[in-house]
Amino acid sequence: MQLIDIGANLTHDSFDRDRDAVLQRARAAGVTRLVVTGASREHSPKALMLAQQHPGMLHATAGVHPHHAVEYTEECDAEMRALLAHPEVVAVGECGLDYFRDFSPRPAQRKAFERQLQIAVDTGKPLFLHQRDAHDDFIAIMKNFDGRLGAAVVHCFTGERRELFDYLDRDWHIGITGWLCDERRGQHLRALVPNIPAHRLMVETDAPYLLPRTLRPSPKDRRNEPAFLPHIVEELARDRGEDVAETAAATTATAMTFFGLE
Ligand SMILES: [Zn+2]
Repeated sequence: MQLIDIGANLTHDSFDRDRDAVLQRARAAGVTRLVVTGASREHSPKALMLAQQHPGMLHATAGVHPHHAVEYTEECDAEMRALLAHPEVVAVGECGLDYFRDFSPRPAQRKAFERQLQIAVDTGKPLFLHQRDAHDDFIAIMKNFDGRLGAAVVHCFTGERRELFDYLDRDWHIGITGWLCDERRGQHLRALVPNIPAHRLMVETDAPYLLPRTLRPSPKDRRNEPAFLPHIVEELARDRGEDVAETAAATTATAMTFFGLE
């Protein structure tokens, strides 16, 4: 089994003490490639640096998460564009809207999102998108860029049926995380995932966040890591009524094409 974790926050300081061991465990578990999420001015350059240290295994995104939207100045825009000129940086984002936490004011979120969509237009690179509790504004902003954007993935999909079908209707990709394994808030996803065509489906851990609640044994420190991706794929395959090998192969092929990996 060869898997690609399309969203791992490997620059997070919880990995500082054992990052190489984390990568070794990922490889041993069949996670042969990872896309390191860049989600702020501070961490996007670190994501690139990590990718450069592990060519062929690690790739990076460069972007500013809506939580950090207030950071999005002209200098920040120039920094993101400079990062995206590197071949190791395979997607624009994480960017989008988050009205659940509202860590940044909504007008700032919308502006930072639009600026990053323009970078995607200018670079032709795919988009790594985040949306929480902001579906209608998210769709409206994306609509303004209709016909100019390349591929897009709505990462860590946690939404309802209407949101899923809105995304699939627009030909976007869907990233599934261990949220699926959360019996308190992810149960609805189990009935939804069979609707995602294989060529639109990818998998991710969102490590160190979102430790799958069905994982046994569960690590004491509650830290999620890429080596746990096979567990998510097993759960996903069962919900889709597929063999694990089939789900693994399809999501890997989709990610290779989506990010333009070789
Ligand atoms: Zn996110």
